[in-house]
Amino acid sequence: MLKRAVYALADSPTFTAWVSRYGMRWGFAQRFIAGEAIDDVWPSIQELRDEGMAVTLDYLGESVSDVDATRVATDTYCAIVEELGRCDNVASVSLKPTQLGLSIGTELAEQNIGRIVAAAKEAGNFVRIDMEDSPTTTATLDVFKALRAQYDNLGVVVQTYLHRTAADVRELNSIGAQLRLCKGAYKEPESVAYQAKEDVDRNYRELAELLLQEGHYPAFATHDDRGTQWDRP
Ligand SMILES: Cc1cc2nc3c(=O)[nH]c(=O)nc-3n(C[C@H](O)[C@H](O)[C@H](O)COP(=O)(O)OP(=O)(O)OC[C@H]3O[C@@H](n4cnc5c(N)ncnc54)[C@H](O)[C@@H]3O)c2cc1C
Repeated sequence: MLKRAVYALADSPTFTAWVSRYGMRWGFAQRFIAGEAIDDVWPSIQELRDEGMAVTLDYLGESVSDVDATRVATDTYCAIVEELGRCDNVASVSLKPTQLGLSIGTELAEQNIGRIVAAAKEAGNFVRIDMEDSPTTTATLDVFKALRAQYDNLGVVVQTYLHRTAADVRELNSIGAQLRLCKGAYKEPESVAYQAKEDVDRNYRELAELLLQEGHYPAFATHDDRGTQWDRP
């Protein structure tokens, strides 16, 4: 019930505009958002690094339908990776394809993300393409594969709630892709995604095993500490 309410609010443009306007000012978004500009985020990066953690920055935004806005987001990401390059690459970046043109067209997203990956390569940084909802999965992987053929400083996320992901992981492993495994955060229909949490968790464990055996520097995005209780072969 709570999950359904949260999904409904997240789809509401009025609510999301209100949160981005007042959330930081009132403080409730600060647990999740390190800052509104690159200059604001250094203390959070430092704090996490002092605790021995690696850090990735996400410049928030998705479902952008205006070409100029995708270019502005691209310029911002390029400026962020250049700045990170000047600061010993203390963090990498993650990005959402629909913020960078995927809702408008694959070609535009490839152009914009390609500019960011090129700037990151120049700066010695790494770019992770987040995975969004299932209508964007194929296009996201197409953009990833096209850019991965040109750059090695690029990885992508796959979601274990999707039925297709086991096949995607095998194919992506075969081209040397660096994958980050997560369970998946969007509301998806039964036709494409497991609905029961136990199935999503089981698929997570199975694909984590596969990535540990055959993957290429795999990453695991989860708060699920039951990983320590997995049955080992
Ligand atoms: C680094 C990172 C990158 C991600 N990238 C993507 C992406 O590209 N695409 C995508 O669809 N999803 C992404 N996600 C979200 C992910 O798919 C899950 O929705 C989310 O992580 C919750 O699943 P879980 O694996 O943590 O485990 P769950 O089984 O949902 O939860 C396990 C335990 O962790 C707790 N928990 C869950 N969330 C949090 C939280 N935010 N803070 C503290 N405790 C929590 C739960 O209460 C529970 O006790 C990402 C998550 C992380 C951490």
